[in-house]
Amino acid sequence: MSTSDKSSSKHAKLAQWLARAKEKRKQNAILPLETGASAPLSYGQQRLWLLQHLFSANPFYNYADMLILEGELDMDRLQQAFQQIVRRHRIFRIGFQTEDGKMIQRHMSEEFPFIEVHDLSNLPEEVSAQQTQKIAIEAARQPFDLSSGRLTKLLVIHQHAEAHVLVLIMHHIITDNASFEIFVKELGIFYRAKPAEIDTLPDAKIQYPDFAQWQQQGPVPSKQLSYWKQKLSGDLAILDLPTDRPRPTIRSFRGEYVSVPIPNKLQHALKALAQQLNTTLFVLLLSAFKVLLYRYAHQRDILVGVPISNRDQVALESMIGFFNETQVLRSGVDPTQSFEGFVQQVKTTVLEAFDHKQLPFELLVKELNPERELSHNPLFQVMFLYKEAPKAGQLDDSLSYRHATLDIGVSKFDLTLAIMEEHNQLSSIIEYATDLFDAATIERMQQNFLCLLTDAVAHPQKSIQQLDILSESDRISLLDRWNPPIQPLSEANHIHVLIEQQAHLRPQAIALKWEGGSMSYESMNQQAQLIANHLIQQTDSSYELIGICGEAGPEIILGILGILKAGKAYLPLDPDYPANRIQWMLEDAGVSLVLTGQGSRDLSLSKIKTVEIAALVSGPKQPPLFPNQSSSLAYVIYTSGSSGRPKGVPISHSNLLHSTRARSTYYRNTPAAFLLLSSFSFDSSVAGIYWTLCGGGTLVLTKRRIEQDIARLSSLIQQQQISHTLLLPSLYGMLLRHADPTELASLKTVIVAGESCSNQVIKDHFAILPEVLLYNEYGPTEATVWATVHQIQEEDARTRVPIGQPIPRMHVYLLDDSLQAVPIGASGELFIGGEGIASGYLHRPQLSENRFLKHPIHPTSPYVLYRTGDMARFRSDGVLEFLGRKDEQIKLRGYRIELNEIEEVLRRQPGIQEVAVLMSEPENTSESLDVDSLTLATALLELGDEVSHHLLDSIESLSEKEVQLLLKNIHS
Ligand code: AMP
Ligand code: MG
Repeated sequence: MSTSDKSSSKHAKLAQWLARAKEKRKQNAILPLETGASAPLSYGQQRLWLLQHLFSANPFYNYADMLILEGELDMDRLQQAFQQIVRRHRIFRIGFQTEDGKMIQRHMSEEFPFIEVHDLSNLPEEVSAQQTQKIAIEAARQPFDLSSGRLTKLLVIHQHAEAHVLVLIMHHIITDNASFEIFVKELGIFYRAKPAEIDTLPDAKIQYPDFAQWQQQGPVPSKQLSYWKQKLSGDLAILDLPTDRPRPTIRSFRGEYVSVPIPNKLQHALKALAQQLNTTLFVLLLSAFKVLLYRYAHQRDILVGVPISNRDQVALESMIGFFNETQVLRSGVDPTQSFEGFVQQVKTTVLEAFDHKQLPFELLVKELNPERELSHNPLFQVMFLYKEAPKAGQLDDSLSYRHATLDIGVSKFDLTLAIMEEHNQLSSIIEYATDLFDAATIERMQQNFLCLLTDAVAHPQKSIQQLDILSESDRISLLDRWNPPIQPLSEANHIHVLIEQQAHLRPQAIALKWEGGSMSYESMNQQAQLIANHLIQQTDSSYELIGICGEAGPEIILGILGILKAGKAYLPLDPDYPANRIQWMLEDAGVSLVLTGQGSRDLSLSKIKTVEIAALVSGPKQPPLFPNQSSSLAYVIYTSGSSGRPKGVPISHSNLLHSTRARSTYYRNTPAAFLLLSSFSFDSSVAGIYWTLCGGGTLVLTKRRIEQDIARLSSLIQQQQISHTLLLPSLYGMLLRHADPTELASLKTVIVAGESCSNQVIKDHFAILPEVLLYNEYGPTEATVWATVHQIQEEDARTRVPIGQPIPRMHVYLLDDSLQAVPIGASGELFIGGEGIASGYLHRPQLSENRFLKHPIHPTSPYVLYRTGDMARFRSDGVLEFLGRKDEQIKLRGYRIELNEIEEVLRRQPGIQEVAVLMSEPENTSESLDVDSLTLATALLELGDEVSHHLLDSIESLSEKEVQLLLKNIHS
């Protein structure tokens, strides 16, 4: 082949290729529709339409900008310019309506809107500034009617002759950030233009409806779709940021923001690190934000929404309209990964996402069909964006403009972190949903973010979990101020000595009361002594622990005191427990003697020595014997265990003395008459028994299962003039609701404990017994009954009910998995240290080592920290909120149960392969809208006529609540 042949064939190929490319471009070109023809909605518009109808009259998708104009303003020219822009961009005259069951955008009017003018020039300066804000915000929050064809407003507020404020408001369905810039640019062009020049400006050939039509006709980018489907496959974590308030079922989208400048030094360091890691500030700051979210929520799957603008074609560059897309950037977090390694990971995610940005978010949502709730944004709950502040400029030589912030008080997401760059200065702005957060929490989050950034630039090789996040002042609050040094109790003593003292002080006072009888302190002491004498005579030092079994009556109290006086510790055995559990506890604890009272279980099969309490106390008064040796142990209580076996918690006299002393320090008065409602095999019984008997009050004992008879319970309270009691919040709730309030008049102090207290209980309490002091105590058996306490106030009914602050001589730390303190406001596992902590589990060195840790924060501390498995957060004021369990442990009528313990037992049965145990929550019927499937089907059919099939598709993926609300809003 000759060279010329070669070149001509090359030419031909090139020509072919060019023709093909041209054809492709032509095929792909956006073509103008006939003037006046209606068009479908773009994917983005569909989404906004749906959202706006779901939350109708909510201004969350109103977009507003405020410009300060300085100089000479010609209102006629401004009005002219406004009209020209509206004329040029058809989107300003479009309404969103239905036609033949389809959503369309339709050309509505040739009427041009007028600028709304306010003249404040005769008001004093401060007043006019305030008034300006008020007018602007009011206008910007005014909901638009999407069908009206008037989705824009322009206001001018004259402050004085040379100062004016221009407020531009549009519904997001017709605009985006770039559109605002285009608007202001054109406003300048038309404002400056002489009337004759105006017509010479070329008209835009392509209009937004043309784009929408083009987008809807185009093929679904299937490769991109499969990329995103794969990226967002599996369960998508809902970001579980601890909130200041319970999440409402329906979001209000009210929002505020907190803005802080990023200090110059840090900013330089960030730029340097970005360069060193060969990436952008966007990627670096997004990575740090994800780390922040991880450190607050401890989830390893972090999804963040990022807005992008999809104006890829030249024709779209100067078009006003909605071109935003949202990308969901998902990161798996490995807490041990270095920060710089994580940045590289995020960089890859961002680059890949950018390569797959053609897919409309709406299509993705439809495809993934996530479970949707009105309370949560689907797919992601927080957003990140990096933006440059809009620039100042001139409308003409004698009129300058600059942008001012106009806060219309909305937040579309739980949180949005916006990094704003203005004159080379970066600020971090967090917009937050006020449904969920207080300003103080977000201010603190900003400080944590800056600390994290500061440590990350200094030590990019540090692991994600090790990066410093606490500010100095928070560190002091968390580690020192809220956990002041502990002064150990100086007196070495045994708990029963304090009760003996009461017997000497007030021998005739009533110590115990029960249905049909009572007993004085003197008599109680003497009878307990008989038991003690028997034990001292009949047992040697191998009997350190003595079992006690029976119905909670006076005998049991006598038995307990007798055991303690004999220098021994007691093991309570609830007669309601299954025989083999009792058997197992006896063996595990190495108990060979059990004192039995009325209603005791028959223990004859277990070959354990038993002695009836009644037989011991019937004899005549004896002089006291004293044990040669006294155990430091007071009792052992068994609690649930994850290995399928309960575990013994040994509590010493000093634990118990501390726990009881702390009551007299914390509570204003000791109980005159305490109603004991807990089984003595729960440690909550310990509160009432020792607090009352060490204080000289009367302990009132109840019959078994009295909690099942509220009428009897309340008349008992009246008969016995009960002043104090401690009970499960659920039981207290029942009492409040079903008892005759006059019967409860003697109550002075009520303590709820053992499980989360509901808001309803608090509401009922303050409605019915507002004078009675109400406390919430929190604590595991391992910390001797209580570790924190909160005096409940009426306003606590509106938030998560706090568990308060550490009691005297106890410390509380909230730590993450790497045993570092979490920020104030973040969730962390609750660790307890101090005088109440048991020394470990009985005969379980391995388990004890896992749960009772050497102090990770103050290594020289004499106290171990007990790891509770409970999650909590500190409020800004140092008060704790309980957030549930970290594991599968539940509380059922006060019983602490580890579900895997039940699973373990079931698994041991022959023929069982897989086991799953769940606790089913009772349906909260007052909250749910209760739509049956028939109503839902009808609803969908009705909607079918009203909206296009596209929308019907997305409606099918809505929750029932969403459909209900949508229906209601459409029909109203
Ligand atoms: P127990 O060892 O049987 O006293 O159970 C202790 C567990 O009960 C704690 O670890 C918590 O999970 C739960 N608990 C105790 N008190 C409260 C409370 N006031 N609010 C919420 N949960 C509580
Ligand atoms: Mg307890």
